[in-house]
This record gives sequence, C-alpha cells and structure tokens, in this order.
Amino acid sequence: MTYRGRFAPSPTGHLHFGSLVAAVGSWLCARHAGGEWLLRVEDIDPPREMPGSAESILAALPAFGLAADGPVVFQSNRQAAYDAAFEQLKAADLVFPCWCSRNDLAGGLHLDGRCLAAPGAGREPAWRLRVPDIEIGFDDGLQGPQMQNLRDTAGDFVIRRVEGYYAYQLACVVDDAFQGITEVVRGNDLLDSTPRQIFLQRCLGLPTPRYLHLPLALDGSGRKLSKSEQAHPVDPTDPLPALRRTLAFLDLPIAPAAGHPAALLAHALERFEPAGLPHCSERMAA
Ligand code: GLU
Repeated sequence: MTYRGRFAPSPTGHLHFGSLVAAVGSWLCARHAGGEWLLRVEDIDPPREMPGSAESILAALPAFGLAADGPVVFQSNRQAAYDAAFEQLKAADLVFPCWCSRNDLAGGLHLDGRCLAAPGAGREPAWRLRVPDIEIGFDDGLQGPQMQNLRDTAGDFVIRRVEGYYAYQLACVVDDAFQGITEVVRGNDLLDSTPRQIFLQRCLGLPTPRYLHLPLALDGSGRKLSKSEQAHPVDPTDPLPALRRTLAFLDLPIAPAAGHPAALLAHALERFEPAGLPHCSERMAA
C-alpha cells in the first residue's frame, strides 16, 4: 500500500511554529517513505475560525517548501459524508440524543448510553456516541505503546453538537479514510484523541491508520503554542529562520549554506529516520 500522510490545520489563525512542526514532520515522514502528502483544511467550526486564515495557511506552506500531492480537501464541503456517517451510527443505535448541560455532567458522571436530562421542548440535542467499558490500545510511532479506557477517559463523547456542527473526532475519522491516509503524523496534544478516533473507525467499519505524535511545542511559560492565541506566527516572506528552528526542534540536521527552503528540507530528508525524532511528549520552542 502506498504511504499517504497529511497535514490538517484548523483555520483558527495564521500558520504558527507548532503547526509548522506538524507540517514539516508529516511531510518528512511521507517523503522518507516515498509516499504522498495531502492537505485538509478542518473548517468545520465556524465560531472558532479566523476569516482569511485558511487562505493564509495554504499560501504559506509552499513558501516553506511544502507542496501537497493532490487537491486540498475542505471539511466545509464534506457535510454529506458526515451526514452519511452519522446516519450509519444512528441506524446501528450507536448514538443517542442528549440534552444534558455542562453542569449536569460536571464531576465526570458516566452517562452509560443515555441522557440524564429531560428532552428540552424545542431544544436541539447534542448527539453522543455510546462508549462501552473498553480499553483501546495502539502503538504510537514515536511515543510507543498507548492504552486508554475510553469510558473513563472520554465517556459518551459528542459527535454532533447542539448547533448542528459535527465534532472534530467524527470529521477527522471520516476524512482520513476518504483521503486514504495510512499514517497520521501530528502534534502530541492529539495523542489522547486517538483512542476515540480508533473506536469511531471500528464503529464505522473504517481502516485504522498508523499514528505518530510529535512533541508538542511549548512557549516560554510552558503552555502549548496555539494559532488562536496568535502565538509564534511564522513569516512566509522570510521562511528560512522558522524552518531552521523547526528542524532544530525535530533534532534534524540543518544545512548551513542552504539558501532556499527546498534545499534545507532536502538536506534534512537525506538523513531523516522517523525513529530519530525526539521521543519526548513536549519541548520548548526555540
Ligand atoms: N485540525 C487539527 C489542528 O489544527 C489537527 C487535526 C489532526 O491532525 O488530526 O489542531
């Protein structure tokens, strides 16, 4: 099977250092395997999005030497596929409508497959997946063997929100299968989402890709860099400094004389081994 990787940014801000790490890391893994690298814009959460940021991210990537091997998938165009997956789960009685408020659920209450609130007159419900008492394990390409009790950790998680938007977990799983992704390389902040995604893949009869979670980039005070807080944006008009910092973050060699992003990436790729990536779960961004 051809290796197929992807980078799947949410358009909540401009490309920043943390997302450049995920983009470069996933690109290097795909190129090293002689595979393809695809892009997906995860624009399914309009309230969190920043106008213009999808365009800005897509325009920035080629400036860093990162070009996708196929058309970009926009999740905002994929409603019919999420509807179909949702109907499939509904037909199999794997989801239930839920009117519980956040307050109702404070204290880590188990729903055990049923809503505890009265159906609100005229109020739309959220839809939750029925999660049994199940251990989900996987062998992460970098972080090693993982095991999570899904019921204790995630519980009956929401797959369709009150506002009608599908949750990231559902959209991600449907689209990783749609794009034929064989390995997901992304930041370690999503490590604990992976068992939810594997469980959803099983519910929907979709294949499970391999997973590799890169160390999470932290700011000087130990917090995750985040696009929405405009942390560490990278400048596509002067790509070399941020690209050098990204390669250093991933413990990759930096060609001192490289005057172009493609040359820096090619040099790093020559010596690249996924096993040589830093095995820590997080580290400070330079
Ligand atoms: N859209 C997510 C983000 O920007 C990444 C999702 C993924 O790689 O699975 O954090």
